[in-house]
Amino acid sequence: MRVTRRNESRIVEIGGPAGRRGGGPSGLDAGLLRPVLSPAAVPSAPALLVIRGVRAIDPTRALDATVDVTIEGGIITRIGPGAAAAVASAEHARVIDGAGLWAVPAFVDMHAHLREPGQEYKEEISSGLNAAAAGGYAHVCVMPNTKPINDTRAVTELMLRRAEEHDGTQLHPIAAITMGSKGKDLTEMAELRDAGIVGVSDDGVCVMNSAVMRRALEYAKNFDIPVIQHAEDHDLTAGAEMHEGNVSARLGLRGWPRVAEDVIIARDILLTEYTRARYHAAHVSTLGAVRIIAEAKSRGIDATAEVTPHHLLLTDAAVIGYDTGCKVNPPLREPEDVEALRRALANGTIDAIATDHAPHSPLEKDCEFSEASPGMIGLELCFGLLLGLVGESGITLPRLLEALSSRPARIIGIEPPTLKEGARAELTLVDPGARYRVEDMILRSKSRNTPFMKHEMTARIVMTLSRGKIVFDALSAGAAQ
Ligand SMILES: [Zn+2]
Repeated sequence: MRVTRRNESRIVEIGGPAGRRGGGPSGLDAGLLRPVLSPAAVPSAPALLVIRGVRAIDPTRALDATVDVTIEGGIITRIGPGAAAAVASAEHARVIDGAGLWAVPAFVDMHAHLREPGQEYKEEISSGLNAAAAGGYAHVCVMPNTKPINDTRAVTELMLRRAEEHDGTQLHPIAAITMGSKGKDLTEMAELRDAGIVGVSDDGVCVMNSAVMRRALEYAKNFDIPVIQHAEDHDLTAGAEMHEGNVSARLGLRGWPRVAEDVIIARDILLTEYTRARYHAAHVSTLGAVRIIAEAKSRGIDATAEVTPHHLLLTDAAVIGYDTGCKVNPPLREPEDVEALRRALANGTIDAIATDHAPHSPLEKDCEFSEASPGMIGLELCFGLLLGLVGESGITLPRLLEALSSRPARIIGIEPPTLKEGARAELTLVDPGARYRVEDMILRSKSRNTPFMKHEMTARIVMTLSRGKIVFDALSAGAAQ
């Protein structure tokens, strides 16, 4: 690594082909990527950040070009070939050699579980936001199934206060649809919206009662927030441990049939059409759900959907061997579901990629399959796992980036990150040549529950900016020591 210091180390030129060490195609070996664990250690908002010769890709502007990017006071001031010429030698500039790197709009995760308040031994808001920043996320939405459940202004405000103290990736709370997520009485959505929520969901459980769901859609419509459904007919999944199919029969585990998801989404679509409200299907996992959502969209119903990285990459065969790391809800499905999900992602039927980051400690995972809690971590792994899907089933790089950033941003009603002059700097620098295994990563999440430990990653996040500030930095001189 070439580090040039002038004037008491005020100019630090980072990286560059000549200075890179390590034998991998990226030149960034594991030793170089000592993470910044606390945002306090990060130069939060350099007065002038210059990224030279970077491939900038922004599907919201049909941009794909090698450019210089200058960021002053948290705002993108210039993008274009040679844009850095005038300022790169400025004394207060931090200059990054972008050769071999990509700059993309920072990611937005609309579905994560950060466990605070109540289960801080699995994750805290600060560790979760550090994990998000390291995964390239400028924004992360947190589901309400904390302890207590986020069904009041007090819990929403507590989460926002913690995130504000942390001062990294921006947190957006999603409140419960019903008090205690019990499926009966609606929460005070007006008050919760005032407090800062961006959607409502009883995630973890399904709103089973059609009358309650109808009222939730009608009520949420007043505030233009989506009702996010965890679609699972609990009567059809009682005692279920994995997808119902040949593998569950072979393993002797109770099955969770596809139709338990499909019937709820079909009902919800009908209610959404009837109420003219906004509906979002969380973690869609079946080919039937994809078909129903495609049909709804073709009729102009305001229904959107998300898919998780694990449902795009794994099938129920991963459960053979009773790997509790592969126990998720909804469960991993069959190859035809995975193919349908990939095609739906490619053609936009599925709008967004959401991690469903669900940290658990060994207490919940190192146990019998039937006892294990469902879920896996995802914030730090998502992009590195999914970039390998580009070219498969019609998935393009712009579509992947859009599903990770601008689409989820629009669904939750926040300004989509964009690489545009005058925009607040919310971008992620990616090293697309990095090849390494998940087990070699230094994870910032407090939990380690992922079945992808041996998986080869096809990209590395090297810097993330959220709201104009650097929230993750694997390139700084400090990070390299
Ligand atoms: Zn869920």
